[in-house]
Amino acid sequence: MATSPISANPAAPADVLVVGGGIGGLSAAFALAREGLRVRVLEQAREFGEVGAGLQIAPNCTRILHDYGLLEEVKSLGVLPRSMVMRDAVDGGELTRLDLVDLEREYGFPYMVVHRSDLHGVFLRACRAAGVELVTDARVDGYENTASGARVLLADGRTDEARIVIAADGLHSVARRLLIEDEPVNSSYVAYRAAVPIGQAGRDVDLSEVSVHVGPRCHFVQYGLRGGQMLNQVAVFESPKALAGEADWGTPDELDAAFDATCREVRAGIPLMWRDRWWRMFDRDPIMTWVDGNIALLGDAAHPPLQYMAQGAIMAIEDGWVLARHVAARRAADGSIDWRGALAAYEAVRPEHCRRVLATARAWGELWHLDGVARLRRNTLLRARDTYDYSFTDWIYGPTALTPEEEPPMFTPIPLDPAMALNG
Ligand SMILES: Cc1cc2nc3c(=O)[nH]c(=O)nc-3n(C[C@H](O)[C@H](O)[C@H](O)COP(=O)(O)OP(=O)(O)OC[C@H]3O[C@@H](n4cnc5c(N)ncnc54)[C@H](O)[C@@H]3O)c2cc1C
Repeated sequence: MATSPISANPAAPADVLVVGGGIGGLSAAFALAREGLRVRVLEQAREFGEVGAGLQIAPNCTRILHDYGLLEEVKSLGVLPRSMVMRDAVDGGELTRLDLVDLEREYGFPYMVVHRSDLHGVFLRACRAAGVELVTDARVDGYENTASGARVLLADGRTDEARIVIAADGLHSVARRLLIEDEPVNSSYVAYRAAVPIGQAGRDVDLSEVSVHVGPRCHFVQYGLRGGQMLNQVAVFESPKALAGEADWGTPDELDAAFDATCREVRAGIPLMWRDRWWRMFDRDPIMTWVDGNIALLGDAAHPPLQYMAQGAIMAIEDGWVLARHVAARRAADGSIDWRGALAAYEAVRPEHCRRVLATARAWGELWHLDGVARLRRNTLLRARDTYDYSFTDWIYGPTALTPEEEPPMFTPIPLDPAMALNG
């Protein structure tokens, strides 16, 4: 059993332990360190890192990056596309678009695409500069509240403790079990990714766009990374083997079959997909309680979504920003913090916002993957949308709410079936 101390400086106890060094954990650690707290991150992996694929970050995230003083660095690493275009994956016809230049004017901050490892690296450097202690090879298997804070139990037998523990340990969160005995929900969809040098694209790809082709039980996303030097692609489809209950599902033969009947532009991208790994798509049902005493969930541990809204990492970044703002607002002149109040304020606002995103992501996935008459109705509705109508994005791209009162109302859904609209 290991006995070496976790901290390089055991004499200076941490105020906050963050479990998990993904984008959620690191961004929260940075946000709290920026408020003058001593923060230690415990990551199970040997090294801090992220999968080398792309990430879309919308104005509700770039606004926070700006507040952190990190936006220019992220901009220098990413791409600022001019439009996001949704097309039908079968006939290739345009359905709707966002003018991302106008969208930046509307919301004050840009819509960007960035390599995940680049964004993760920005937070890692920011954490180091802010004095966050970063510990690897530290797998947390248990949590308990104590009289003065909370303690974590590591797989190698060590323990660590602090006033507060933030569990940012992802979809398979151990800490979540403190609050609920639930399991990830299998969508039977699987994602293939590829991030390749643009020269490998073998054809002209318009990197001024984020392109999304939506089709029956499948969709395909494409955009540029690293100043246009790389092409990022995501191919998502429903696995017949998953639906049949087979254990070995989402395999490359299914990828090829799923995109067989799509338009030329989509089929041209499929041979580039990585075939040695794929991501089965799970989310969880929303939960409204994220705090157990001095232990709080954050990021995918609290709200793993289906990725169709491209808001999973963004929600995690928002969580840390909101928590840090409430901590700052509850610090007394002697430096003490009303943690109970800060965690309650965090829990009053974030779960409802994330519940909305999780529910919308599921509904969005259903809309994207329609077939038959429903697909045609969807296409008619989407084509009728005015490019400059922001009523569907205001609730998500506007400023991140700090209180329930600041949370904007959601859009009014338009029924696909016109008869439903007539009958109310
Ligand atoms: C195909 C795909 C595309 C996506 N696209 C987007 C997008 O465009 N925009 C967007 O905002 N989101 C997107 N997402 C969602 C986004 O990737 C996630 O929501 C986000 O990465 C969650 O971050 P996290 O830090 O909460 O969790 P994770 O990234 O899962 O990080 C958890 C960390 O905790 C560590 N850990 C886990 N268990 C333990 C333990 N017991 N002890 C110690 N450490 C532990 C892990 O090693 C990991 O480092 C996408 C997801 C997928 C699958």
